Amino acid sequence: MTIVELDGSVGEGGGQILRTALSLSMCTGVPLRIERIRAKRPKPGLMRQHLSCVQAAQAISGAAVSGAELGSQSLAFCPGEVRAGHYRFAVGTAGSCTLVLQAVLPALMQAEGISRVELSGGTHNPMAPPFHFIERSFIPLLRRMGVGVDASLRRHGFYPAGGGEIDVAICPPADGLRAFDLLERGEPRDLYAESLIPALPRRVAMLELQALADAFGWGPEQLRVPAVRQNEGPGNALMVTLAHAHVTEVFTSFGEKSLSAEQVAARVIAEVRAYQGACAAVGPHLADQLALPLALAVHRQGTSAAYTCSEMTEHARTNLAVIQEFLSVRGEFHRCESGWRVNISAHQR
Ligand code: ATP
Repeated sequence: MTIVELDGSVGEGGGQILRTALSLSMCTGVPLRIERIRAKRPKPGLMRQHLSCVQAAQAISGAAVSGAELGSQSLAFCPGEVRAGHYRFAVGTAGSCTLVLQAVLPALMQAEGISRVELSGGTHNPMAPPFHFIERSFIPLLRRMGVGVDASLRRHGFYPAGGGEIDVAICPPADGLRAFDLLERGEPRDLYAESLIPALPRRVAMLELQALADAFGWGPEQLRVPAVRQNEGPGNALMVTLAHAHVTEVFTSFGEKSLSAEQVAARVIAEVRAYQGACAAVGPHLADQLALPLALAVHRQGTSAAYTCSEMTEHARTNLAVIQEFLSVRGEFHRCESGWRVNISAHQR
């Protein structure tokens, strides 16, 4: 029997290897064994958030699993058939809902039927895709592949209190995933910044937004403080949304006790400037997250697809390497005029 065996310490050496491998094990039905999980992290092995991903993957695929314990550095995962359905996953306090969604979405968007996934935990966590990134950046690209996806935010959840809620409806494409090229971002359509600031002083948001206005020369209509229920805090996410004709990017920085409003703004300004300095289609986070669904489409169609990105992170490189362990695709990347170009093409094993 074919099995994919992975060393979790290679490349980026963190939780992304686990999530990508779980997703692809379920999509292909190929069992997975992974050793040295998160070996490059100060606390290696499965943390609560990673364990939640394994448990969610087990729930949707009926997998036989061993090693699913906190701190475990090895895991064996043998998936059954992925079942569409109505699932609820409680990630626990502020564990990231969106990373659990990232693990189960590829399998559910290829399942036989419509699914609904309700997640509770953190919706705006550092080092994870914030809900608004998933909604505005990632989901529209899945729709372009033919997947019906709708996500709604019922309640914000910030670190450390958590308590956020996300509801996602997934309708697989009737005739399979479609690959596409994404080489240019297109004309700018709508550029704006928002400061989410439940249970913290509004003046912090005003200082953050003013710093962005000064940096980008933006007017008041581009600066927003969305209404957020006070009991969903305390928390602070400063988000910059850049909607272009072919892709929308969302860059986020998070308030911390030790940081001034100006420092929080400076972090996101640096990310936006790096993206604007390149003219590639996607930024560093979409670059690693787009690879998997696009590779699934390429694998199914036996075609090829390409995208350009402003940065080629270790996450993106590692993701491409893991993808090639499961799918009959080749993922290559090289520098190009606009930044980096990633080519994913089908090949016979
Ligand atoms: P670790 O094992 O390092 O503790 P982890 O399992 O919590 O990590 P990572 O392996 O670092 O997570 O993966 C984080 C994922 O979240 C990546 O896909 C990354 O692109 C995404 N991500 C992180 N920050 C953002 C952000 N600001 N916007 C969008 N996506 C983000």
